[in-house]
Amino acid sequence: MSQFIIGLTGGIGSGKTTVANLFAELGIELVDADIIAREVVAINSNGLQQIATHFGNNILDNDGQLNRAKLREIIFTDDQQRLWLNNLLHPMIREQMIKRCHQATTAYVIMVVPLLFENGLDRLVNRTLVVDINENLQLSRTSIRDNVNEQQVANIIASQSSREYRLSKANDVISNNGKIEDLRRQVMELHNNYINLTKNNN
Ligand code: ADP
Repeated sequence: MSQFIIGLTGGIGSGKTTVANLFAELGIELVDADIIAREVVAINSNGLQQIATHFGNNILDNDGQLNRAKLREIIFTDDQQRLWLNNLLHPMIREQMIKRCHQATTAYVIMVVPLLFENGLDRLVNRTLVVDINENLQLSRTSIRDNVNEQQVANIIASQSSREYRLSKANDVISNNGKIEDLRRQVMELHNNYINLTKNNN
């Protein structure tokens, strides 16, 4: 039996984490790309070792952890180094994501991936689910959550794929312009649909 995988995505502050947690409350396993991306460069990992060999040990903090700020600075200004890093980490992250999904024991799995379409991870999933939000709410919720001003959030939004692009690629859409209760209702409805689809799938 192959695992039925839902790829969950959305822009910054759209509500991906909130939605994923609602699926988790229903007993569905989550595989989170951000968590795995941290694990593959954790202390003593093969990923971190290769990064330190490539960039030198001063890419590490005194305690041996990856200095993310330093790494971000390098890859922000140097496309070639960014490419090198992506070529190293993307396959590792992808492999771990697939492994975790196949280890899951629930009826289906929710894969949470901020750059699902951009990094081609939508090819690994059975269906894509986009959390959609209007830009005003996205600005206010994100700036409150991250304690940054709305202009900074607007810059991040401008650097990401557009709302229209994501929506054009979505199989399913959750609208997050309302209350948590509205989200809960939509999650419940999708959950029932997904359970039915997994029955047809097997
Ligand atoms: P993402 O994971 O997509 O970046 P989050 O799930 O962290 O987004 O949501 C962004 C912020 O908005 C969080 O502080 C979250 O608690 C809040 N939030 C999400 N959905 C709602 C909602 N329907 N009503 C009020 N606040 C919400």
